[in-house]
Formats: sequence, structure tokens, C-alpha cells
Amino acid sequence: MRASRFHLATLKETPVDAEIVSHQLMLRAGMIRRHAAGIYSWLPLGLRILRKVEQIVREEMDRAGALELLMPSFQPSELWQESGRWDQFGPELLRLKDRHERDACIGPTHEEIVTDIFRREVNSYRQLPLNFYQIQTKFRDEIRPRFGVMRSREFIMKDAYSFDLDRDAMQRSYDIMDQAYIKIFDRFGLDYRAVSADSGAIGGSTSQEFHVLAESGEDAIAFSDQSDFAANIETVEALPPAAERAAPAADMETVDTPGMHTIDDLASGLGISARQCLKTLIAEAEDGGLVALVLRGDHELNVLKAERLAGVASPLRLAQREQIIEVLGNDIGSIGPIGLAIPVFVDHSAARLSDFVCGANQDNKHLVNANWGRDCDEPVSVDIRNVVAGDPSPDGKGELKILRGIEVGHIFQLGQKYSESMQATVLDEQGKAIVPFMGCYGIGVTRVVAAAIEQNHDDKGIIWPESLAPFQLAICPINYHKSEIVKQAADDFYQQCLDRGLEVFLDDRPLRPGVMFSDMELIGVPHRVVFSERGLGAQQFEHKGRRDSEAQELPLDELPAFIEKLASSSWAPG
Ligand code: ATP
Ligand code: MG
Repeated sequence: MRASRFHLATLKETPVDAEIVSHQLMLRAGMIRRHAAGIYSWLPLGLRILRKVEQIVREEMDRAGALELLMPSFQPSELWQESGRWDQFGPELLRLKDRHERDACIGPTHEEIVTDIFRREVNSYRQLPLNFYQIQTKFRDEIRPRFGVMRSREFIMKDAYSFDLDRDAMQRSYDIMDQAYIKIFDRFGLDYRAVSADSGAIGGSTSQEFHVLAESGEDAIAFSDQSDFAANIETVEALPPAAERAAPAADMETVDTPGMHTIDDLASGLGISARQCLKTLIAEAEDGGLVALVLRGDHELNVLKAERLAGVASPLRLAQREQIIEVLGNDIGSIGPIGLAIPVFVDHSAARLSDFVCGANQDNKHLVNANWGRDCDEPVSVDIRNVVAGDPSPDGKGELKILRGIEVGHIFQLGQKYSESMQATVLDEQGKAIVPFMGCYGIGVTRVVAAAIEQNHDDKGIIWPESLAPFQLAICPINYHKSEIVKQAADDFYQQCLDRGLEVFLDDRPLRPGVMFSDMELIGVPHRVVFSERGLGAQQFEHKGRRDSEAQELPLDELPAFIEKLASSSWAPG
């Protein structure tokens, strides 16, 4: 590709509304442009990278025996009625009516459609196992689309669906996908982890997420430092502290705490540690009333755990301030479990505290040296917090460490949920109707592009892993338009690269070298070759890898070897 024929649309300034680095760099490099919240176009440069991701995914899915098809975005409501999801799905499902007033939606996922295909097309056990996949546009009306294509409303997903005769066969299909995902993420050249996304279940997992590790990741993942335990923090059990609760040491007192509304205010105001304070959150109860969820001040609520408690409304809804004032008679900021007339659930760690500080249920007052069992009933002790670094690993081996990740893939055993509700069956050897077992397997294709940048960039721009780069190398000739020998050398080399099948970018724009170099660094091309009159005079060219700190002068006669090296590098399927 010649720059003069390409739409290179780099920006100097960092767009102000882009919060994370991948979003900023994708806009600055001219990969994407925004039209509305969570709605983007992929410009030619961005699309080259997107296609690389798709191609790797497609090759490995094909190799794993999955069959590509293409399903519609527009989905009739009848199918969703059958599965029961028309009523269950929240506002993320974009519902619409066609001109005949028929209800439909724009697919956020395709279990219904694929099950409909299956029940029409497949009727014998002999046709199983079967795995259908597509690489296609999804629409989810996300409440807070953000970070560019990382969480957008319209995005591209690879989604695959397996069908098997029984549970064991489903497990085999799942394991094949697990292996295929490992190959895919290895080939991307990204640092990633497969983590269990199952709640509690230790042992064989029925759901796994694949995370690209990056500081800015929305998810926290917990790993044991001594075993292969790794799971999304959402699902990790926090074991009760080993130590018994200490005996009370002092009498409870009420103290004035004007203006101290947060745990931090309170800890610094009273000169104590946040670990010694209780944090009391008020949520809606199943029966329409309220419940209290009590944590140690330095811990965070785990929403999934809390909404599983009997009596707590699911999905979890924290109570509104007005509702709290009306029911409890005082404002948020000084609520505590002692004397509270609603059900109270106390996290195991908070239940082990003695002589703690908590809200007094009177505005601007707290209790100090409060104690369970003495100043109120013994607590109902439950697990409702997120684990933190240093907690024991739930498998009993080692301590947990926490890293941040971006969820780029999810594999899941569905069982018979859709085949059953949508009456998909096949006949077994005896001619008996069997309801097949399904699995589903997603990869956020567009999100992978953003995640790759989040993990691989510097202050100059993107650093693509070779397998995802839009071009393998950029040729930057100095004075291309003024020097005949430079033009000749650059054109010749460009042609040789093309002949060898390399994806090469020739910067033939009449620009200063610094401008060309910074553009190529911004868009993240892995290799740069420079031809100049001075260099050619000395029979040399210059090479710089995107991660190198210095350029290297190399003899011109090494150019053919250089081309061969690039042509044979990681580009072939792994
Ligand atoms: P998340 O928790 O991030 O919302 P999810 O659990 O809803 O993801 P799945 O339904 O498992 O996601 O979808 C499969 C993959 O699609 C995800 O692993 C993710 O990579 C991608 N994905 C999901 N939602 C979005 C989105 N709004 N924008 C871009 N990619 C997305
Ligand atoms: Mg989601």
C-alpha cells in the first residue's frame, strides 16, 4: 500500500472525550470514528486489524471442526417468546416493530436463531456432534457504552454453538473449544489468562472467561500463588477468617461525627483504620422492604453473592436515599447494624470484628467499641464481599493475587436450556427423541483489537503484535520526491516486498522524516525501513523495530535476507 493511495487519518491531538488509552489511540491512529454513543465506523486502517483478528479466529474454529454460517441480526420475537427470553431480557435487548407491527429485536446473541436452525436441519444422532459458528454484528443497548469499541452498542462477535447427544459429549465439545481458544489467543500474541467463571464450583468448570491482562481492565481476576486456581473475582469464595473473634475490651459509646459520611472520613476523623469500621449498605428486599448488608470498611460488596441471599431482591438494587430516610428515619452516612429494624446480613470478616465503629442510626453520630452478641444479637454471617490480595485461595492452596483483565472470550455449557424450551430433538439409535446438550462460545472480535492496544502501547502509540499489525513493515524514504536514487531504491524494495507477499506500507508522502516516523509509530507498524541519499551512498539502509530504542544501519545486500525473515515470521498459521 502506498500512503498516497491510502486514507491515513492520524490525529495529533488526543481526543478529549476518550478516557482510556486504546480508545485515544484508535481515534488518533484513524482506525475508528464515532457516530453516536457506542456506534462506530471502522476506517480502512482499523478494518485491516479487525480482519486479522477475524482470520485467526476463523482458521482455528475451522480447524477445530466448527462450521461457519451466517445468521440474521433482525430476529423475530416469536423465537424469543419460545425460549422465554423475550420477557426476561432487560433493556439491553433492542426491541422494535416492523411495518406490519410485528415485534422483533436486533440480536444481542444467537441461541434462539441457532436452535431454530438446528431443529429444522438436524434430526438424527448421526449428525452429531455439530458446532455452528459465525462472525457477525451484535447489538446490545448497553446502559453505559464506553471506552470506544471496548464496550460499544454495536460490535462484532464470533459466536459458536455446539450440539451433542449427552452431557459427556457436550463436555468434549467444550474442551475442544477451550483448546481452540488457547490457540487463538496464543496466535494473537497477547498476555491472557483463562479463568473460571463458575460460582463456587471447584473442580471441572462449566464456564470459563478469557481475559487479556491490562491495568485498565474492567474485571478483576484472582489467582492462587501456589496452584492453578484462577477465577473472575465475582465468583471467588471468601473463606471466613481463621482466627476467632476477640473478646470485647471496652464499653460502647456514642460519638459525634459531623460531616463524616464515608468510611475514609470516619477513619481519618477518628484516627482509626478502615478495617475497624463497618460499612452498612441498604438494599431492596424481595418482599419490597429493605435489608442491610454489612461489610468491613476496607472491603467491597460482591453483587452476585448478595443477590443470591434469600430475601434479597435479585438483581440487586441499592435503596434510594429518600427510601432509606423514610424507612429507617435517618440519613445514609450514619447507618449501622445495632438497633436496626430490618434484616441484617454480615460478611464473615465483619462478623469477626470486636470493638468496632459503626453508624449509630442517628444523623451525625457513630458508635465506637461496639460488639456483636453484647450490644446486639449475634450476626447472620455470610460471604458477600469480593476477595482481596492476600486472602487464602478457596482451593486451600496458597494466597490470592489480583490482576486486572479485559474479558475477550467466554465459553459456556448451556445444557438443555434452549433445546428443551424450543423443542429441538434428534432421534437416537433406538429411534427415541433426545433433547441435545448445547454449549456456546463467544469472542469479542472488536474488543480484542482494543484490548491488544491496552496491553501494547507506549507514549508514541500502538505496538502491534506481528500477527495483528495492519502492515508488517513501513518504508520511509527521505526525499522520495526530490532524490531519484532514493525513489528508485524505495520503489524497488517495495516491489520486492509485494512480490514476496508481505504487507508493506510505502510512505511516499512529501513529508519530513520526523512526521512520517511518528505516524508509523502511532499506527504501530512493527518494522520501519529508511532509505536516504546518505545511507545509500554508504551502501546502507536503516531498520528499526517498533520496540527498539535505536535504529540500526545495515548493509544494502542484507535486504533480501531481511525480506525472507519477515516473510517467514509468525505469519503462518501456528
Ligand atoms: P461483559 O461482561 O463485558 O458485558 P458479557 O458477559 O455480556 O460481557 P458475552 O455475552 O459472554 O459477554 O459475550 C461474548 C464476548 O463479547 C465477551 O466476552 C466480550 O468480549 C464481547 N462483548 C460483550 N459485550 C460487548 C460490548 N458491549 N462491546 C464489545 N464487546 C462486547
Ligand atoms: Mg454484557
